[in-house]
Amino acid sequence: MEEETFKSRLTETEEILSWALTEFERVAVACSFGKDSVTVLSLARELDPDVMVFWIKTGYAFEETEQFKDRLVKEWNLNLTEVSPETTREEMEEKHGKDLFREDPKLCCQCLKVEPTRRVLKDLDAWITGLRRDETEHRKDLYIVEEFEDMPVKVNAIAKWTNEDVWNYIKEYNIPYNPLYDKGFVSLGCEPCTRACTWGRFERAGRWPDRDDKECGMHLIEKA
Ligand code: SF4
Repeated sequence: MEEETFKSRLTETEEILSWALTEFERVAVACSFGKDSVTVLSLARELDPDVMVFWIKTGYAFEETEQFKDRLVKEWNLNLTEVSPETTREEMEEKHGKDLFREDPKLCCQCLKVEPTRRVLKDLDAWITGLRRDETEHRKDLYIVEEFEDMPVKVNAIAKWTNEDVWNYIKEYNIPYNPLYDKGFVSLGCEPCTRACTWGRFERAGRWPDRDDKECGMHLIEKA
């Protein structure tokens, strides 16, 4: 069997994306404006510059992420839908207090991330993500294509890529990236739940640093 390289993984990803973008009528890229989803978005745009993109607007994004998103929307002329939760951050804070993300992150993620994602997915045949196997122990067996009952097909087009692959791609193809990475962040999420870090075996160690669980539930949606 031929040994896999970054170039072979890149070629495979381009084929997967080409398949997904022709096979499904209603297909969108889920983008957090972190390095992985921007990588997959960049590759998808090579095939369809007008590909649909959605971003979940929790109200807790870093200012740098908001600005980076606005920059990409302009520079790439992104076909972006910003999806707000039914219950906004302000309403959540009024009801549960300002520390809900610390006291009950599951509930916070459920209301601000999972609910709006579920609503977007209802109108899609497929969605494309930037999930990767080497991000966490939990994701190590991730399939490239996932099918669940009554859910759009999930295409994890860069599932096999390493962290190094992503940075190789960004540097080699001169792709813009979120400036938070230059401040020591390794994996990006909402500001209150993300720390710059060098510790941990996996990239997501700085996400909810006090918890073992490194998933917000958005990517467990199909099993719920
Ligand atoms: S990542 Fe933190 S702030 Fe964002 S929705 Fe989840 S618990 Fe709330």
